[in-house]
Amino acid sequence: MSVVRESFGFLPDGTEIFKYKIENGNEMQVHVLTLGATLQSLIVKDKNGTPRDVLLGFDTVEGYLSSSDYQGATVGPVANRISEGELPLNGKVYALVKNEKNRLCLHSNGEFTFAVWKAIVVDADCVEFSYVSPDGVGGFPGELKTTVTFRLDEDNALHIKYDAVSDRDTYINLTNHAYFNLNGYDGGAILDHVISISSDAITAVDEYSIPTGEIRDVSGTPFDFRIEKSIGRDIETDDEQLRIGGGYDHNYCIRNWDKTLRKCACVRSDETEINMNIYTDLPGVQFYVGNFLDGRAGKAGKAMQKRSGFCLETQFYPDTPHRPEFPSCLYKAGERFESETVYEFFTGEGN
Ligand code: BGC
Repeated sequence: MSVVRESFGFLPDGTEIFKYKIENGNEMQVHVLTLGATLQSLIVKDKNGTPRDVLLGFDTVEGYLSSSDYQGATVGPVANRISEGELPLNGKVYALVKNEKNRLCLHSNGEFTFAVWKAIVVDADCVEFSYVSPDGVGGFPGELKTTVTFRLDEDNALHIKYDAVSDRDTYINLTNHAYFNLNGYDGGAILDHVISISSDAITAVDEYSIPTGEIRDVSGTPFDFRIEKSIGRDIETDDEQLRIGGGYDHNYCIRNWDKTLRKCACVRSDETEINMNIYTDLPGVQFYVGNFLDGRAGKAGKAMQKRSGFCLETQFYPDTPHRPEFPSCLYKAGERFESETVYEFFTGEGN
């Protein structure tokens, strides 16, 4: 196990951005940037023992600064969409930045994603990133102290632990927005990847991808991934929800959620035989298949085309602040948000 720090470049104001590389005894590597506490690379071996970087992203600071894809980024204080860009709390309504369609707030307008985080090497397998967001940033109440730790174990699992506490009551919903391609960042479309999701229902959305409140059973719909199938198998079905998202871009309600860490999805590529299991202790996971990737040049100048990466963003449901019937992500002043997501990799023909 080892951690190495190197320079990744500079912000326009001269601030240096660092990359921390954690490597385990199997030569799996995790690279994380101080810009956005961003997962920049995840290098795992394929069926032939060849290392593959299974994350989309960029080689430069400029790439990350000019992107609105949230590539690999830590997202917060509240991930996903908040309708009308309004945060109702304790009888007041806080105005957020309406960064999508001039109508709603998506991913807190990048407040955490474009921040520069402090990093400390905690151990030979673990780096902790911390950021203090001032009261009122992006409209969100409370000074929020957040740490995100990335730990790689010897079983090829990356553990991301989130811890956040505010000095005022506020909403907290942190996630990571990695785009995976188990054939490698230059591996083409992910439609042949095979996935299963431990969920019986999605939060159905309106035309703006805001939950309507309906928890919709996936039975008999293209959203049913209870039994594994390829991402592409049903994606072109004529379905109202698929039309709204331009493909899968929906929150799945995790079966039997009880706040403990549980497996929520398994994905594999038959080409590389790289498998990934995802675990979370949160109630939801956004399955997004890169419908809005637009061919921008990423690592090594390779174009990141539509559907060349998929995301599994562990989270509280979208627009939770407006939906008292959803599991709550309201935290009292001094109350800790604590959560863990695990991405576990192995090779072979299936789970
Ligand atoms: C959203 C997508 C959005 C993407 C990048 C995902 O979490 O659900 O609609 O395009 O993030 O912002």
